[in-house]
Amino acid sequence: MARGTIIIDQDRCKGCGLCPEVCPKQIIVMEETLLNAKGYHPAVLADPDGECTGCAICAVICPDICITVFREIPDKKRAPAPA
Ligand code: SF4
Ligand code: SF4
Repeated sequence: MARGTIIIDQDRCKGCGLCPEVCPKQIIVMEETLLNAKGYHPAVLADPDGECTGCAICAVICPDICITVFREIPDKKRAPAPA
């Protein structure tokens, strides 16, 4: 299984709640105790066990392009080291 992670730009998030709905791993939650610069409760990644696959569904659904996705490149796809 591919591994990944995301960074959510919390000050751009408008708290719409779409990304937690679509994440297949259910590792995005809405921060209920904090407000961002716009006055919304932002989405946060809660992934202590490293379950994110980097599938990018969350980034695609986000209407405000707040989510950046990072995905690990499997070793077999990396270029060979120079001799
Ligand atoms: S990249 Fe995929 S698994 Fe990772 S947080 Fe987004 S939707 Fe969930
Ligand atoms: S989809 Fe985007 S704007 Fe909506 S809660 Fe998630 S990060 Fe925030």
